[in-house]
Amino acid sequence: MHTVEIAEHLSLIDLEPAHVENLIASYIVRGKRVGIIETGPASTVQNLLSGLNELDVKLEDVTYVAVTHIHLDHGGGAGALLKELPNAKLVLHPRGVPHMANPEKLWSQATLVLGERITELYGKPEPVPEDRMIAASDGMILDFGEDVKLRVVETLGHASHHLSYYDFLTNGIFVGDSAGIYIEKAGAVVPTTPPPFRLDIALKSLDKLLSLKPDWLYYTHFGRGDKALKRLEAYKSQLKLWAEIAKDGLEKGETLEKISERIFREDAAAQRALKFVEENPVLSVTVLKESVEGILGFVKKFRY
Ligand SMILES: [Zn+2]
Repeated sequence: MHTVEIAEHLSLIDLEPAHVENLIASYIVRGKRVGIIETGPASTVQNLLSGLNELDVKLEDVTYVAVTHIHLDHGGGAGALLKELPNAKLVLHPRGVPHMANPEKLWSQATLVLGERITELYGKPEPVPEDRMIAASDGMILDFGEDVKLRVVETLGHASHHLSYYDFLTNGIFVGDSAGIYIEKAGAVVPTTPPPFRLDIALKSLDKLLSLKPDWLYYTHFGRGDKALKRLEAYKSQLKLWAEIAKDGLEKGETLEKISERIFREDAAAQRALKFVEENPVLSVTVLKESVEGILGFVKKFRY
């Protein structure tokens, strides 16, 4: 576990699930009070607490724990974490509230989609009491004092319960999974678009993020990316390229494997990412495959 200072009020904690670095980040903002963006999975709550200790954060000063969405790698640790934070409330999309109150369905679905190996790696989420959750709406402000404020930006597409958080002081956005997976060492962003992905809605969300004219993107997977506008535009083009190839492939009756091959041949960034992932155990190749499946599923269902 290690921490990185990004700005005076902003730090990153590398949660290192199963000792894998640069995979899942949690961000800490500090004004008079403290906020945590992304809990990460249940299995890394102890690492997150060590990170807070390293940053000299007093647990009673944490007032908001904001998750971008309720998938296990982003919000799975919320229940266990809140037990350690006496004054904190969980901020999340309203659609996520019932699932965090009773995470059984979330857990069984994740096991089905991700397989047992991954869910074991993330750990089983504990329920969050309803009175400790805040169902956030678009535009809501989370105020930490000393000019440290975050604005909730609803960014659906990756999931029907996805939010991003805009940081006023750095003009940066905590994007969760709405702007892809950034693999700094491969110099590449790849789509994170597992089924049931909504390309049309995701593109609208990206336009919404672009309209904020941010300088920085803070990726949960993983780290800070500069030239935010360029990155967001590039991600839009990448999603459209994948969808074009999927559409063409479907019309020609090609198999998923064939379409997937073409995508990784024609998208240079994805190709670099795939190569990197095959050589380094940062992500499983399955994640990339699922992204292709999500795009394909969308194109099929909505006749894009
Ligand atoms: Zn994720």
